[in-house]
Amino acid sequence: MLLDLVLPVECGGCGAPGVRWCPACAAELRTKAADPRVVTPRLDPGVPVLSLGRYAAARRQAIVAVKEHGRADLVEPLAGAVRTGLTQLLTWGLLETPLIVVPAPTRWTAARRRGGDPVTRVAETAVAPLAGVTVTRALRLTGLARDSVGLSSADRQRNLAGRVRVRALPAAPVVLLDDVVTTGATACASVDALQTSGVSVHAVLAIANA
Ligand SMILES: [Zn+2]
Repeated sequence: MLLDLVLPVECGGCGAPGVRWCPACAAELRTKAADPRVVTPRLDPGVPVLSLGRYAAARRQAIVAVKEHGRADLVEPLAGAVRTGLTQLLTWGLLETPLIVVPAPTRWTAARRRGGDPVTRVAETAVAPLAGVTVTRALRLTGLARDSVGLSSADRQRNLAGRVRVRALPAAPVVLLDDVVTTGATACASVDALQTSGVSVHAVLAIANA
């Protein structure tokens, strides 16, 4: 790409020069044997919420780089972490196939303009080699939902309540994939919308928890 000739390449996790994703950041993001772990956001969606790691350091930088800076090259390392997490949940018997990964709905209009919702791209890349696991973009946000930055958890819940719509019914049990679980408002609204439509939701998997 022409851009590479102008802008020096740097690691999307730590800024190290000359590499897009350095070995240290790759090691940090890699899903460990005991992960994902159960986390307890303030708002409980009523199904287990599992996280691949803390929203910090390389994990945080990679998520921000994909979401806000269009670093599509970092979809693959994030997807690798999700793939290992799903595989371990299947191995442990906490999830079973057939399984449908539903990406949490997004308001990232800037990211969408750049070629699609990042959580969906991460989900699709993650499940591609997994037998019996597929992705359905089942949820969308109605136009009224505001960006949640700066809102309290109660405000986030009000902001999202009733604004997550089911646009496609998944044909098998679901795990909801979210990028970052903070208050749990998005997970609650998403799980609620799916369950109200008769969909069986087995868990929420987050790439990170804040
Ligand atoms: Zn790095």
